[in-house]
Amino acid sequence: VIRKLTKRPAQPPAAEVLATWTPVQVDEVIAQINGDIGEIDSRRDSAQSRINNKLSQVAKGRTLLSYEQSRLEEDQETVARLAEKLEPLYAELRPYDDEYTRRRWTRYWIVDNTNGHVHNTRHCQTCYPTTQYRWLTELSGSDDAACIELVGETACTVCMPDAPKFKGFGDGQSGWAKNTAEEIAEKERMKAEKAAKQAEKAITDVDGSPLRHDHSTIRTLVSAKQALNNAVENALIYPNSEDRYTEQRNHLAAAIAHKTGETIENVIAAAEKSVAARRRRQERQYPHLAALAAPQQDQT
Ligand SMILES: [Zn+2]
Repeated sequence: VIRKLTKRPAQPPAAEVLATWTPVQVDEVIAQINGDIGEIDSRRDSAQSRINNKLSQVAKGRTLLSYEQSRLEEDQETVARLAEKLEPLYAELRPYDDEYTRRRWTRYWIVDNTNGHVHNTRHCQTCYPTTQYRWLTELSGSDDAACIELVGETACTVCMPDAPKFKGFGDGQSGWAKNTAEEIAEKERMKAEKAAKQAEKAITDVDGSPLRHDHSTIRTLVSAKQALNNAVENALIYPNSEDRYTEQRNHLAAAIAHKTGETIENVIAAAEKSVAARRRRQERQYPHLAALAAPQQDQT
């Protein structure tokens, strides 16, 4: 269950209102503002590095080509425009940051890679200055016991040395372990549903063995019905091989009847009806081919 993030107000609330907010609410809004700042920052950084690159070439005495010069000016405009966009974001951030500075609650981060652990500080000795973290704002203001109840053995035992004593650590009962178990159960359920749907479509011979037809195996009811229609039509078109196609027809019809619970006679009657309809349709659409559809010598 994904909980909805705290809605970011158009204007930050007054200090006395923010004082009533939970740490989770404050940090979720901070994280949203930080996200916007980070996005603008990275666009500004790439424009700035293009500018620096060109200016250093100019400093070495190279003259910029006219398109390079106009790209440089564009980038300089971009940097100025983005800097203007950052200002109100930092202003928006300030009251929330002030509230954190006033109350100083706990915060938790997960190292953003596979098998990354959850830490209660970004200065854990197991991490490096370049370590990328993702902020677990839903744990803001919690204590280590509550953190471990949620994240289980993902908790770092260096910055949370008591972790193994807490509920959820390594016992499969943590919130994340239960989520994973639910995800697995859901996947199993969908797999079973898919298998049931396939079984609904699948066909075998009447004795349960694969339905062999014309040197291949027919696996679905739909293709068995198509093959039956072809056998019925071929018996009409190739009277010389009528016996062979009639045998195919009877074999396929028996398998279909076994699958659907209809009588063999009804299955054959339905196939004959659909073949007759198909031939009438073809004759209307392609009158010049009607002669070809008339009985002819079997070529096989
Ligand atoms: Zn740690």
